[in-house]
Amino acid sequence: MNLPSPIEQVEYPLFHKYGVCVWVKRDDLIHPIVSGNKFRKLKYILKECKRDIKHTGIISFGGAFSNHAHALAFVCYAEQIPCTLFIRSASGKAIHNETINDILKWGARVVFVSPQEYKRRESDQYLRQIESQFKGHLIIPEGGSHQLAIEGVKEGLLESRRVVDKFDFLIVPVGTGATLAGLAEGLEEGERLLGISALKSDKFSVEVKKKWSLEERKEIQVLTQWHWGGYGKTPERLLRFIRQFLQSTGIELDPIYNGKSMYALCEFIRFGLIGNGTKVLFIHTGGLQGWRGKRNTHQSTEK
Ligand SMILES: *Cc1c(COP(=O)(O)O)cnc(C)c1O
Repeated sequence: MNLPSPIEQVEYPLFHKYGVCVWVKRDDLIHPIVSGNKFRKLKYILKECKRDIKHTGIISFGGAFSNHAHALAFVCYAEQIPCTLFIRSASGKAIHNETINDILKWGARVVFVSPQEYKRRESDQYLRQIESQFKGHLIIPEGGSHQLAIEGVKEGLLESRRVVDKFDFLIVPVGTGATLAGLAEGLEEGERLLGISALKSDKFSVEVKKKWSLEERKEIQVLTQWHWGGYGKTPERLLRFIRQFLQSTGIELDPIYNGKSMYALCEFIRFGLIGNGTKVLFIHTGGLQGWRGKRNTHQSTEK
């Protein structure tokens, strides 16, 4: 594990032109498999699982290219914790792709569920049913977004503060919002936190802030117009930006989360919303394995 993960000030012509200092917290470099915010979120969940022998295993949920399911299967393999993953499948039948193959190779049990069943993943009744079937298993919501995830995310921010003690803006991609909520816990007076939603939903901003009890936090905003057509949608213009950013800075961004967030940051700078002399921390949440869902020639229709 590469901890604390590096924090780099990025040389990029646009940032230079507008006089904005951008640091990237390279959580993508923590570990080749358990990377980014999934490592941060799983840290204390695993600790809890190992602490209490009542927990006989872990259960969680994800899509067919889920970074979370992939990371969780790997750490459970490394820690010898039985792991069962409920994976969303459009057909309800088994899916084979590189992400799933890795998960199976690491010995996790995979249960493929239809989109209708997957929708019930947070319903109490459904979870009770799973609980009775898998006695003693710790159930982790999709994305690893458990309350125990918050502390690990906050720790990453504290690492950054050893290099720069205060920023004007923090930028982070948002899926379930657990990473945003963890950063919110570590925010300093005067700092603003901007979450860039990877999902297409107008109500999302209100819903996420409510879910993580951030309604009163005016300095935290979830912006929902940077999804490029929806979750997992990656138009050529976005891909071109990601390639060009990589060439210019040496930093690779994933197309589902960080590519969209970095693009949004560039637009904020261009629009003058983030101006001269501003210090920005961009949290690179990893997710580079997610490229595999895009690069496959035999592309699955799954997200
Ligand atoms: C899961 C994931 C996110 C979303 O994190 P949340 O805590 O669910 O908001 C962001 N970026 C990457 C790369 C991810 O894999």
